[in-house]
Amino acid sequence: MSSDKSHLVKGATGDWEVVIGLEVHAQVTSNSKLFSGASTEFGGAANDHVSLVDAAMPGMLPVINEECVKQAVRTGLGLKSEINLFSRFDRKNYFYPDLPQGYQISQFQYPIVGEGVVILDMKDGSTFEVGIERLHLEQDAGKSMHDQHPSYSYVDFNRTGVALMEIVSKPDIRSSEHAKAYVTKLRTILRYLGTCDGNMDQGSMRADVNVSVRRPGEELGTRTETKNVNSIRFIGQAIDHEVMRQIDVLEDGGTIDQETLLFDPKTGKTRSMRSKEEAHDYRYFPCPDLLPLEFDQAFVDELKKDLPELPDEKKERLMKDYGLNSYDAGILVADKTSSDFFEQVAKGRDAKLASNWVTNEFFGRLNKEGKTIETSPVNAEQLGGIIELISKGDISGKIAKELFEIVWEEGGDPAQIVEERDMKAVTDTGAIEAILDEIIANNPKQVEGVKEKPQLIGWFVGQVMKQTQGKADPKVVNGILKEKLGL
Ligand code: ADP
Ligand code: MG
Repeated sequence: MSSDKSHLVKGATGDWEVVIGLEVHAQVTSNSKLFSGASTEFGGAANDHVSLVDAAMPGMLPVINEECVKQAVRTGLGLKSEINLFSRFDRKNYFYPDLPQGYQISQFQYPIVGEGVVILDMKDGSTFEVGIERLHLEQDAGKSMHDQHPSYSYVDFNRTGVALMEIVSKPDIRSSEHAKAYVTKLRTILRYLGTCDGNMDQGSMRADVNVSVRRPGEELGTRTETKNVNSIRFIGQAIDHEVMRQIDVLEDGGTIDQETLLFDPKTGKTRSMRSKEEAHDYRYFPCPDLLPLEFDQAFVDELKKDLPELPDEKKERLMKDYGLNSYDAGILVADKTSSDFFEQVAKGRDAKLASNWVTNEFFGRLNKEGKTIETSPVNAEQLGGIIELISKGDISGKIAKELFEIVWEEGGDPAQIVEERDMKAVTDTGAIEAILDEIIANNPKQVEGVKEKPQLIGWFVGQVMKQTQGKADPKVVNGILKEKLGL
């Protein structure tokens, strides 16, 4: 690691190493909240999903939601982490209008999940491991609304008490690229597991971004923490801005304050929210309303047995079963629907061809039209049909693109369309020879030319394609041409 300088940042006075640790808050997928039966549904009218527990009415008692516990354990298993059979809920005390209890129930000393690892697949095909420090369960807060009335602020408690998993990484991340890859991978794993929908634009996932810089090989530097960053792009921007700011301060002989910052998407900059001196003292203590959370290994084993196939394993399998390279397999498994679609297209067909068509032609077209696999006019069976026609030599790659267009626009069975519209490749060598003889007889200049400059053979191929509306197999044309011209 120390010999790898690729991620170092050049300052005016030498190289700096960036150190990043992320605390990701992921909303647990569950029908009801962590300690109450109120709905977790997104987008309801304000205060529609609030039970007496969520509103912190005096004397109300929290009751742990078993499904949320299972989701946290599943997530821990998916992050290859240690599962703690004993964990405990603590009160984190602070006052805020959207927190009616006056404290958040969280896990401090004894989290439900301990150390684990997330493997990042980088663009160059290499992998990079980020350690997981812990995962704990806690309640989300509500939402203050300052734009509803000229002189009052309102609160919406719908989100109050919804279960969150806080997933804390070790300070292993070394660049904004790594950080973005880490959050992307984490989101993919959570989505495969079905434990968090990962919709950052709805606030289901957000990150506190801890950043420091140091001279390579030295002790960790003082970090700043940028709170609640809610998109992967913003995480990258916040880090890049913070790294340059810290290097500037240090190179000018200053010191970094251990501050809490906010990221402003409009300016792409971070600004101070509070300093260490104003840091909260949360006066954590064990929540007297809840017993410690205890379960046995059998409970964990049962959940482990039912885990779905996860991205790392799926990637391995796609490489083995379909002969894909690490990069292509990595792109496909990044999204479960994409890799499922690929498998439907590739099963029993030419896998390399299928992967090219799925990742280039098909995804390219979806992107262009702002569509998804679910809303695509071309389904896996149709795309598979096109690929079969190419493999059999019934159509050329060029015609296949036209065929794809037709299926995209009009629907239908590719094989039938090829029949009906006379799109089959001309593989009949006799027919191609006849066309070529004519071209050679009518173009003596070009025939002279190609003998001196063999690249000019392309012109002849082009002529044949023109006459056959692209249906001649270029390989066959090339073969016959070379023979006839004596090349
Ligand atoms: P706290 O609970 O006070 O926020 P932690 O020690 O649990 O502090 O660390 C929180 C996050 O900050 C973790 O993701 C950790 O990896 C990261 N972190 C800790 N020290 C540093 C540092 N010097 N530079 C960058 N990140 C750091
Ligand atoms: Mg923190």
